[in-house]
Amino acid sequence: MRKIIYLDYQATTPLDPRVRRAMEPYLGEKFGNASSLTHAVGRQAARAVEKARAEVAGLVGADAREIVFTSGATESVNLALKGAARAYREKGRHLITLAIEHKAALDSCKRLETEGFGVTRLGVGRDGCLDARDLKKAIRRDTILVSVMAANNEIGVLQPVAEVAKIARERGILFHSDAAQAVGKIPLDLRALGMDLLSFSAHKICGPKGIGALVVRKREPRVRLLPLIDGGGHESGFRSGTLNVPAIVGFGRACVLAGREMRREAARTARLRNRLRDSLLDRLPDGVVNGSWEHRLPNNLNLSFAGVDAKALMKRLKNIALSSGSACTSTSLEPSYVLKAIGVSEERRRAAIRLSVGRFTTIGEIDRAVEEIVAGVKRMRKVAQVFRQRRIRPSAENLRYV
Ligand SMILES: *Cc1c(COP(=O)(O)O)cnc(C)c1O
Repeated sequence: MRKIIYLDYQATTPLDPRVRRAMEPYLGEKFGNASSLTHAVGRQAARAVEKARAEVAGLVGADAREIVFTSGATESVNLALKGAARAYREKGRHLITLAIEHKAALDSCKRLETEGFGVTRLGVGRDGCLDARDLKKAIRRDTILVSVMAANNEIGVLQPVAEVAKIARERGILFHSDAAQAVGKIPLDLRALGMDLLSFSAHKICGPKGIGALVVRKREPRVRLLPLIDGGGHESGFRSGTLNVPAIVGFGRACVLAGREMRREAARTARLRNRLRDSLLDRLPDGVVNGSWEHRLPNNLNLSFAGVDAKALMKRLKNIALSSGSACTSTSLEPSYVLKAIGVSEERRRAAIRLSVGRFTTIGEIDRAVEEIVAGVKRMRKVAQVFRQRRIRPSAENLRYV
C-alpha cells in the first residue's frame, strides 16, 4: 500500500509502539485469567489489571474502584444511559441529551423511549455549543439523567460540561459525559467537574481497539446502574465477562502517555491543525470552517469548500485518509445530522470534510496534504464548470470519472 497521510485521528488512532510493547507479554507468556486468584498465573494478570485500572482512573481524576472496563465508548455510553435509566426508573423517566451526540447516545435514548422513557434532545447554537439556559428550561421534576458530550466527534466543538455538571448537581440529577474525543486532549477531572458518569475509549488515544471505560462515581452520590451483561459479576457486577487483560494493560499505558504528553501534544497538534487551516484558506479563500473555532479540540478541522462534493473529493485524494462527517455515519448516505443541527446548508453539508491530526502527524505531512487537497478542490471545480457549460447534471455516476 502507498504511504497514506493519516488525517483521521478522530475515527481511530495508530497503536503507539510503547503501548504495544506493554501489551506484548500479556499476549504471550502472561496469559492468566485476572479472576483466577488461586494461582500465580492468575494473580499476575490481576495485578496488571489493577495497575492499569489506577492508570486509567488517574487520567480523569477518578478513583481506581470507579473504573468499569468495557469494550469501548459505545458500550460505556449504552451502560451509562440504559443502566442508569433502568436503575432509577422509579424516581423518574425523563432524560436530557444533545441533538449532536454520537449515535451511541442517540440510539440508546431511542431504545429507552421504547421502554417508556421520555427524552429531550437539546439543540445547539450555530457555533455547536449548548446554551446552559436551554438545559435549565428543559429540566423537569422527573428528570433523572443529563448526558452531554465533552467534545463532538465531527466538528470538535467543546461543550460547557462544568456548567452542565453544576446545574445537574444542584437539581440532584445524574450527569453523564461522552468524553471519547476529549480525554487525553483537554484536561478532564471527574471530581473537580462534578461528573457522575464518564465514557471513553482506548483507541482514540493511541491504545488498542475494543477496550474502554465507564467511570461510575462511588461517593456523593454512589451511582447505581443495572448491568447490560450478566454472569460472573466481574467489574463490581456492572459488566460480567473475563477481562481482556492485554487490551486493559495497553489502555493503562495509553492513559499514562496521554496524560504525561497532553499539554505538549495539544500545543503541537494545534499548531499543525492551524497550519492546515491557514494554508488551505490562504489558497482556497472561500472555504468555511464549520462550528466554533474558539471552543474546539486542538486536533480537529471541519470545513466546506462550496460546490465540492466531499465524497467525490475523497475519492480523488487517494493518498490522504480523511472523512466526511463522522466515520460512524459515513458508511450510510445520511448527511451529517451534526452539521444540520448547527444550521449548515445542505450544499455546505455535502461539501464538509473532517481532518483530524494526532501524535504521529508531521509538518511535512500537513504540507503535502495541503498541496493535494488544493489540487483536488481546484480540479473538481474545473470539472463542475465544464458540467455546467455542457449542462450535465453532476451525479455520483459521472463524478466517478472526474
Ligand atoms: C469514537 C467515539 C465513540 C465510540 O467509541 P468506540 O470505542 O469506538 O465504541 C463514542 N463517542 C464519541 C464521541 C466518539 O468519538
